[in-house]
Formats: sequence, C-alpha cells, structure tokens
Amino acid sequence: MTLNSFNALTDEARLVLANITGAASDLAVPSLRLGVTGLARAGKTVFITALVHNLLHGGRLPVFGAAAGGRLSGATLQPQPDDAVPRFEYESHVAALVHERVWPQSTRQVSELRLTLDFESAHFFSRKFGRGKIHIDLIDYPGEWLLDLPLLAKEFRDFSADALQLARAPNRSGLAAPYLEALAEIDPEAPENEQDAQTLAKAFKTYLAACRSDAHALSMLPPGRFLMPGDLDGSPALTFAPLDIPAGAQPARTGTLRAMMERRFESYKTHVIRPFFRDHFARLDRQIVLVDVLHAINAGPDALKDLEIALGEVLTSFRPGKRTWLSSVLTRRIDRILFAATKADHLNREDHDRLEAVLKHLVAGGIDYAEFRGAKVDVLAMAAVRATREATVRHRGEDLPAILGTPLPGERVNGDEYDGHTEIAMFPGDLPADPESLFSKRAGEYDPGDKALQFLRFRPPRLDTTAEGLTLSLPHIRLDRALEFLMGDRLA
Ligand code: GDP
Repeated sequence: MTLNSFNALTDEARLVLANITGAASDLAVPSLRLGVTGLARAGKTVFITALVHNLLHGGRLPVFGAAAGGRLSGATLQPQPDDAVPRFEYESHVAALVHERVWPQSTRQVSELRLTLDFESAHFFSRKFGRGKIHIDLIDYPGEWLLDLPLLAKEFRDFSADALQLARAPNRSGLAAPYLEALAEIDPEAPENEQDAQTLAKAFKTYLAACRSDAHALSMLPPGRFLMPGDLDGSPALTFAPLDIPAGAQPARTGTLRAMMERRFESYKTHVIRPFFRDHFARLDRQIVLVDVLHAINAGPDALKDLEIALGEVLTSFRPGKRTWLSSVLTRRIDRILFAATKADHLNREDHDRLEAVLKHLVAGGIDYAEFRGAKVDVLAMAAVRATREATVRHRGEDLPAILGTPLPGERVNGDEYDGHTEIAMFPGDLPADPESLFSKRAGEYDPGDKALQFLRFRPPRLDTTAEGLTLSLPHIRLDRALEFLMGDRLA
C-alpha cells in the first residue's frame, strides 16, 4: 500500500466515521412530530409559514416561554427525516406572503418540514448538561382525510345508505339533485361500465363541492379524497359513488356495476385510507386542528352543526377504541391537541374570547372524551398572520372599535368593489356573548341590529423594515400561546 492510498483510505474512513457520529448525535436529538390539520382553507399553510417565519426571524412571542426568556439561541431549517414525503414549500410561501403580499397556495396533500431549535434549559441541572436541541417536524395534511376513518368500519352498502341519507336531507337535497337524478337513471345490477362509474363519481363530487362552497360551508363530506385527492386525482380508487341498494339485497353479482363500485370502495380503504393513517397519522406526537369558525358562522346554523359533527369525528381519530385497526398501528399516543379558531384578525380584540367560546362549544363533547383518556386539550382563537390593525372610529358621535386593513382585490361591501391597494376602516360587528344563539337561529337570521357581522378578506400585511433594511417578522394574534401549548414543555 502506498502512502497516498493509505491517506485516501484514512480520509474515507474518517468520512464514514463522521457520518456515523453525525447520525449518532442526530439520533440523540429528540424530535417532536407536530401534525397541522384542518379542513380546506382553514389556514394550515399560513399557520406553518408564520410559525417558522417567527421562529427564524425572532418574532414577538411574549407568551412562548423559551423565546420570551431569551433561551432560544437558534432556529434553522434542516433536511426532513422522511424522503418520500413532499417538503412543505416554506420559501415560496414566504415569498408570496411577505414579498408579494398575496396568500400562499393552500394545502393539497401531505407535506413536511423540519425546524431545528437550539435552546438553553430554564432549569439549572439541565443547563449543566449543555445546550438543548430539538427537531420540530411539522406535518401538514388535509383534515378531510381524517374524516375517512369511519369508512374503514363500513361495507360499501353501509357507506351508500349513509351517504344517500345525507344527500336526501333537507339542507342537502337541492345540491344533490343532479347526482340523485343521475343515480335514478343507472341500474346497479347492470353490467359494469366505466362510463357510468365516471358519470356517477363526477356528479357525486360536484355535489360534495357544492356543499363545501362558501354559501353552505358544510364539513362532513366523505370520502375525503374526493374533494382533496392529493396525488390520486382520476385514479380508479377515487372513481366510485354511493348506489341505491335495497335493504336485504343479495351480495353483488360479479361483473355488475355494483360489484365494480364495491371493489373500488375496498381499494379506497386499502390503498388510500389505511396508508395515510399508518404512514403519517400514526407517527404524530402532537396535533393542532385549525378551524375556520367564522366561515361556518357566516353560512349559518346548518354549517355550524356540520362542523360540530366533523370535529367530533376528528377527536375520535385521536382516541380510537382499544381494539380498532387504528389503535393497532399507532406507534405513540398524541398527548396534546390544540383546537384553534383561525383568522381572529377579522374581529376586534374584544371579540377574540367570544370566538374562542364558540369553538369551545363546538368541541365540547369530544374534549371531555379525550381528557378522560389522558391527553391535554386546549382551545384558542388566533390569527397566524394578522392582516388588520385595530382602531377606534367615531361614528355618529360614538367611538366604535374598528379594524383597518386592505381588502383583497374584488372584495365588495355595500356595492363598493376594492382594488387591493386601498386601506379601509370597518366595523366587523360583534359575536354574541352566548354561543348557543348561533346554533339555534336559522341560516341568515343572525343579525345583532346595526352591528351585523361582516367578514371581508384582507391582503396580508405590509411588513415594516428596520433602519438596516431587515424585514421584521409577521404579526400575529396569540400564535405564541399556541406555540407554548404545543412545544413549550419540550423547551423547558
Ligand atoms: P389551508 O387550506 O388550510 O392550507 O388554508 P390556507 O393556509 O391556505 O388559508 C386559506 C385562506 O385563509 C388564505 O388564503 C387566507 O385568505 C385566509 N387566512 C388563513 N390564515 C389567515 C390569518 O391568519 N389571517 C387572515 N386574515 N386570513 C387568513
């Protein structure tokens, strides 16, 4: 062996050794897998972007103990642990929010981001062992997918019966009419035919999408992938729809449309629902569920009741029964769950607690259940990004609490359309002191006199820069409280 090759060999050996020690020291770093979920447009993308931006840029986080106490010494983005999961596109979301002042592209599938925090423990003994380090793995996924869990326990005929009962309910039958008409024209016992399957699946998806639209804002719309297909759009496992199967009907005959739909429903369970729960959900340590309560309030009591049912289902997936399939694949227990009403910046400060009270009311039943099983659950109202400022405006001799913001281009109030550049002051209106009143009124009836609720969508805020030209972090409401609950104890 020549000296050179010997050198090369030791270099190589050192490299391998470095990798091993790197991996070993990395193994020693604890990690926290934090699930971020919520139905479409609840605010998941904005929440993760704001959380990371505030931690990377030393945002104002007075209630987050580690940051407020000056113990957070570093925050960096690191390569994520799961190579097969798309990375959360943090950089392009920040570019949209901060530089273009437009809201980023919303969540459409599962994605992940690793944020590594360096901190000093608040405790003398822990401090003696050196600095602390923790990986926070943020897992973003559509809440619609959680609502698929009950389907695992159903046969195709039960799924069909439940889905059709919902579609024929008074608040949905109008929206479901085209689907129900298409269904009436198809014989489930006729020979299988791809065209019929596609027609029905398309009509069923159109009905679900109509239920989700702003005017109705319904939440219980399984199967979850029909509205949020991820990377499975157009696949046969997503090309099925409920059929009218008479009670007591014989099992489907091979080669019929019904047998084809049954097969696809089973594929959906095997290839879509189970892998999601096994590969992503089962590995979470903690969870934040974002809820657009204001959107549901705007659509009326039917939307709120549907949301209440959906949140109950979500809680069931966090605490499945002992002998269920999900409990058999769970690798750990989610020990903290935070329900957060998002977009609180649409209200004046005085109404933030009322928004929180509405969300508490929505999750009340489920919370008792989870606390009983030893998980910590909290509820708060927040805005991950605060798009408005507060002001008092004198109106007819009275000082009224108002909010200032730049409405998105195309937003309208009283016939005026905004251009996306003009800042306005508006009175957002008040939430009722008693949340129950929102549930008992019929749609469109909630009208607290001349202070009726008005929700405009605003552009993201303009960020101030320091004298040195540094951009400051994104403003928020109670994001720090959320952080303290979700990870404060791990940085203590
Ligand atoms: P996702 O589907 O859960 O990922 O939802 P996004 O995070 O994309 O949010 C959907 C929309 O809600 C955004 O485009 C914004 O218009 C609005 N939004 C979300 N979070 C906030 C917030 O903190 N404040 C305000 N004013 N709007 C928000």
